[in-house]
Amino acid sequence: MTGTEEGKVLTVLGSTGSIGTQTLDVCRMHGYKIKALTANSSTGLLEKQAREFCPETVCVTDELAFGDMKIRLADTDIKVTCGKEALCDTAALSVDMVINAVVGMVGLEPTLAALNAHNRVGLANKETLVTGGELVKAAEKSNNVDIVPIDSEHSAIFQSLMGNSGNKIEKIILTASGGPFFGYNKERLRTVTMEQALHHPNWSMGRKITTDSATLMNKGLELIEAVRLFDVTPEQVEVVVHRQSILHSAVEYEDGAVIGQLGVPDMKIPIQFAVTYPKRMKSLSGRLSLFDVGTLTFERADEETFVCLAQARKAIAKGGTAPTILNGANEAAVAAFLAGSIPFYRIGELVTACCEALSHIPEVTLDTISEADRAAREYVITEIKKGN
Ligand code: NAD
Ligand code: MG
Repeated sequence: MTGTEEGKVLTVLGSTGSIGTQTLDVCRMHGYKIKALTANSSTGLLEKQAREFCPETVCVTDELAFGDMKIRLADTDIKVTCGKEALCDTAALSVDMVINAVVGMVGLEPTLAALNAHNRVGLANKETLVTGGELVKAAEKSNNVDIVPIDSEHSAIFQSLMGNSGNKIEKIILTASGGPFFGYNKERLRTVTMEQALHHPNWSMGRKITTDSATLMNKGLELIEAVRLFDVTPEQVEVVVHRQSILHSAVEYEDGAVIGQLGVPDMKIPIQFAVTYPKRMKSLSGRLSLFDVGTLTFERADEETFVCLAQARKAIAKGGTAPTILNGANEAAVAAFLAGSIPFYRIGELVTACCEALSHIPEVTLDTISEADRAAREYVITEIKKGN
C-alpha cells in the first residue's frame, strides 16, 4: 500500500465486466497499479488486461477458464489461481482499495475477506449488501475500514452526506430511471422481448443489472442497499422515477434542505470518486449541460405492475434471510430469462411466488444466507421445470 494518490494499488474483482472495464479506464488515466484481477471466464479480455496492467495474480472462477488462462499467461510471471477460495484470497491481498465489481451474491465472501484483511472496499456489487448487509457492516466496523459505494445512487447519497455527520436525515430520495418499460401495464409487459429488456434508455451495463432495471428489481435491491449503507429505515427511502438520470439521488435533512448530486450518467464518476475519496480529481467523463437537458421530471413508480420493487420492500421489512430469498429467486429467474427459458413477465411472478412460499429466519450468518439462497434458487428452478 502506498497511501499516495499517484501510486495507488488496486485489486479489481470482476475486471472483465461493465464496471470492471470502466474501473481499469480510471486506473489507466491516473496510473494506478493493479495487484490482482479476477473474472469468471472471458479469458481473452482478461489476458489483454493482465498484459497491460501486469498484476501479481489473476484469478478465474471457472475451471475450464483456468487451464486456458494458465496457457495464455505461461510466458509471464503472473500467478494464475482458480476457485471461490482463491477469489477470497485475492480480495485479501494488501492494497489501497479492492473494487468489487462481481455480479451476484457470489461477491459476498470476497467482500468480507477484503474487509477482514483491512482493505478498503469500493463496492459496486449490490447483491453483497442485500444478502449479507449485517455481516458486511459488522466487518466494516470491527476492522475500522471504509466501504465506499460505487452504485451511482449510493455514491450520490454518500456525497450528499459529506460534511453533515451528526445531522439528522429526514429521508433519502432514491432516483430511478424507470427502465425501458416505464408506463407499461401488466398486459403490455407480457409482450416484451429480451432485446427490448436489454436496451436501457440511459446506462450501458451488464445483462443482469440491465434486466433488473427493466423489472425495477434493481431499485428494490438499491432500496435495501441504502437501508444497509446509511442506517435508515425502509420508510425513509423514497423511490422517485426520474427519466433523465441526471439527479443521481439526494438526502433531505430535518430542516427541509435537500442536497443531491447531479451529473451525466457515467459510472466512471462514482468509480473514480470511490478511489480518490475524499479528494476529487479530473475525470474522463463528459460535463453536464443543464441547458441541453432542459427538463428534469419526477414521478411515482408503479409498484402494482413492477411487483419486484414491492417484493423488495416486503423483504426488507421482514428482515433476516428474507432479502436473500428475494435475491436468490431473482438471480435464478433472471438467469432463466437470459437463457431464453422464460418470458420477461415471469421474473416478477416467480420472485413473488418464491417470497410467499419460503419462510425466512431472523439469524443472518453465512450458513443461513447460503441455505436461504440455495432454497430460493431451487424453488424457482423447480417451478420453471414444472412449467408453472
Ligand atoms: P457484468 O456482468 O458486466 O460483469 C460481472 C463481472 O463479474 C465479470 O468480470 C464476470 O467475469 C464476473 N463474474 C460473473 N460471475 C461470476 C462468478 N460466479 N464468480 C466470480 N466472478 C464472476 O456486471 P456489471 O454490470 O459490471 O455489474 C457488476 C456489479 O455492479 C453488479 O452487482 C451490478 O448490480 C453492480 N452495478 C453495476 C452498474 C453498471 O453500470 N454496470 C451500476 C451500478 C451497480
Ligand atoms: Mg444504481
